[in-house]
Amino acid sequence: MDKTVFWTDRAWIEINVGNLRHNVDVLREEVPSGCELMAVVKAQAYGHGAVLTATQLNQMGVRAFAVATIEEGIELREGGVSGEILILGYTGVSRALELKEYDLMQTLISHEYAEDLNSQGIAVKTHIKVDTGMHRLGISAGDLSGVRDIFLMENLEVCGMFTHLCCADSRQPEDVRYTKGQIGSFYKLVDDLRNSGVGIPKLHIQSSYGLLNYPGLACDYVRAGIALYGVPSAPEDDCLLKPDLRPVLSLKSRIVLIRSVKKGDSVGYGRSFTASRDTRIAILPVGYGDGFPRSLSDGKGHVLVGRYVVPVAGRICMDQLAVDVTDVEDVSVGDIATLIGAEGYHELSAPSVADSSGSISNELLCRMGARLPVIAK
Ligand SMILES: *Cc1c(COP(=O)(O)O)cnc(C)c1O
Repeated sequence: MDKTVFWTDRAWIEINVGNLRHNVDVLREEVPSGCELMAVVKAQAYGHGAVLTATQLNQMGVRAFAVATIEEGIELREGGVSGEILILGYTGVSRALELKEYDLMQTLISHEYAEDLNSQGIAVKTHIKVDTGMHRLGISAGDLSGVRDIFLMENLEVCGMFTHLCCADSRQPEDVRYTKGQIGSFYKLVDDLRNSGVGIPKLHIQSSYGLLNYPGLACDYVRAGIALYGVPSAPEDDCLLKPDLRPVLSLKSRIVLIRSVKKGDSVGYGRSFTASRDTRIAILPVGYGDGFPRSLSDGKGHVLVGRYVVPVAGRICMDQLAVDVTDVEDVSVGDIATLIGAEGYHELSAPSVADSSGSISNELLCRMGARLPVIAK
């Protein structure tokens, strides 16, 4: 039996594989030759389904992936994903054997961490994280001897070295100056290492906005997350490069019940929706437990039903929400509602939905990775 039949009973994510392929092609044109895409597939590939997305990317020739946790790396390997997998975040050093067995690369977040991991006596592939001004993870770019020392640690194979930019999305002059300072201090460290006889590993600096605002950096990888999924973080974001990226994800649900409520009746928790006229309400079995933000309650959020854009009525619950379909001409139980995505002439884009909820696309998308089935179209 085709499982997609049950998967589309309630609420689901639809992945447009053609758009994913298109984004890979478009981004590959923007990266300098010799530089590869490292697909960032953490948090269920920003809600797109990690194994499904990485498997598709493998088929498109993507050979490098980044995740946040060791569990995410193991899930990809068990799902048959090939190529390099870099863990961007912290992994307890007691898991060194798993890093090795699953052929995962571990980010070295500090000199002390590198020493601890090395002392486990297990050969592990690593990338050194360099702090150039984000002041989150990483060894200070000024600590030449500390970084050089890591290259000598006998159990750590240093395959890469990278930094992360903290305001690459902004084109404000002071942010551009800060970013150029970050890039400059990374390359200075690389030069100093080279001059002191260290063999330079693979280098990477840019994530999506780093590529779109600072193209052309001499690197081996670009760590692309949100751009690969085809949306900006926020609707008004404006970058130097404007590639034709296309959204990959849609969030859909099916109307399971339609009820009439009389003028003056209330709907949902807190009775925050009171009908100002005789009203028809459609119930969608999707809620904040699926990642649809509760802050879109009480008409702040909208849903597409056929040719109509209809408002959320009352409070979004964990597992359901109500929409006002009084003005929709024909609507029946079983009809599909689009919560994120396009339908006819209308689009509820992830950045606009995220923005209405007070967040960015990245958060909105990744929170949908917990309970919803994902189907590829
Ligand atoms: C999440 C992450 C990325 C991807 O960022 P996008 O803005 O989604 O492209 C890149 N690098 C690091 C270190 C990250 O944590």
